[in-house]
Amino acid sequence: MNLLVIGTGYVGLVTGACLADMGHHVICLDIDAVKIGDLQKGILPFYEPGLEEIVKRNTAAGRLQFSTDYQSSVQNSKVCFIAVPTPSQDDGSCDLSYVLAAARSIAEVMDHPVVIATKSTVPVGTAQKIRQTVEELTQVPFDVVSNPEFLKEGAAVADCMKPDRIILGVESSQAAEIMKEIYTAFTLNHDRIIIMDTASAEMTKYVANAMLATRISFMNEMAGLCEKLGANIKQVRIGIGSDQRIGYHFLYAGAGYGGSCFPKDIRALQAMAREADYEAFLLQAVDTINDRQKTILAKKIKTYFGTLTQKTIAIWGLSFKPDTDDLREAPSFKLIEELLSLGVQLRLFDPVAMSKAQKILDHPLITWCTDEYHAAEGSHGIALVTEWKQFRFADLDKISKSMIGKAFFDGRNQYKKDEMKAKGFHYFGIGIPNDFTQV
Ligand code: NAD
Repeated sequence: MNLLVIGTGYVGLVTGACLADMGHHVICLDIDAVKIGDLQKGILPFYEPGLEEIVKRNTAAGRLQFSTDYQSSVQNSKVCFIAVPTPSQDDGSCDLSYVLAAARSIAEVMDHPVVIATKSTVPVGTAQKIRQTVEELTQVPFDVVSNPEFLKEGAAVADCMKPDRIILGVESSQAAEIMKEIYTAFTLNHDRIIIMDTASAEMTKYVANAMLATRISFMNEMAGLCEKLGANIKQVRIGIGSDQRIGYHFLYAGAGYGGSCFPKDIRALQAMAREADYEAFLLQAVDTINDRQKTILAKKIKTYFGTLTQKTIAIWGLSFKPDTDDLREAPSFKLIEELLSLGVQLRLFDPVAMSKAQKILDHPLITWCTDEYHAAEGSHGIALVTEWKQFRFADLDKISKSMIGKAFFDGRNQYKKDEMKAKGFHYFGIGIPNDFTQV
């Protein structure tokens, strides 16, 4: 089928490339001409494992094209996917201006019936707003479908190729059939398509993210309590996860969640609740706990050192999670900001997010390092913020010898306290009772 994907970000580019890999003819469109120019030369705008190969293969096969031209792109497509940003506004509500601008751009050039499918995460009722926006500009019939995206950055290609589920919020059986046809190749093993009304589809995405964020904040709150009471959250996790109703997945304490989705989606859901005059107590708590959690490493560092002047801290990991270069709302930034304000010398390293970080962070107290060993050199302490695999199996003897101090602040509980102690480190995890308070 001839398809158009609007927006070549983390969602749009992965979706477009995967649809092309399944045999569809796909145009990926963006208003950013530099991005499109780069993509036409095979240069990707972000890091995502496995994506470059798929983009190159399908571009070479002629199934994947890149464009900035709405007219030819819409006129050649049966379905137009919208995958543009939906950032937070100042009051936390979702900014729909990009989505509605894309809908307007489609409407202005539509010359045949199309399906407009929203991949962006949008508040309940957006399908109706898109319908209204398009109807004001054209007489050509069209369908609106809500097709929220569930891919995880870092595993986006696999998620897109083998989705747990494909949610289709539809207004007509005709649109449902077209969308089912697109996704048939992704569901050959077993049917993963779930059809519902548009409002429920839009809500499903927010509820899924709210549930995941709630699990994180819940574990973080329990971790804080564990530390106070002398219990170990890692052991507690094993204990509770054995209950099938709870399970082990997505049940880790850490330095807080970040990224482009959880923080903004929790805020947008709260805004929807406010607008509907409904008190969402739990959502507020999830958000508040996460804000506190993002300060936890800085607090531990301050408590341990007392005074931080003349101190050097190595930071391992800048991206909001491993296997991505996405820095949006990353907990590392909160820590960096706080330590810089206290005059701490920072030695930063991330396996893939360095160049993006260098464009945002520019400070005389920052040294950009070539790897985790280089970062550790001459430091009084290490803060592990992102759980990149390569940080898990570092040569601790080598690291210890190159450091001035002994402190290790493990924001993702990657190491075992006893083993770290045996190596001479003063180890601080999340939700793990401390043996050291202050040097
Ligand atoms: P992104 O910022 O990485 O990319 C968005 C792209 O859209 C940019 O390249 C921008 O130039 C382009 N754009 C903006 N306005 C446009 C317009 N009018 N016409 C054409 N292009 C336009 O965003 P993203 O992370 O891919 O997220 C997109 C949507 O998907 C958001 O609603 C997000 O909440 C949702 N989502 C994101 C993820 C994720 O992991 N990133 C996962 C699921 C859902």
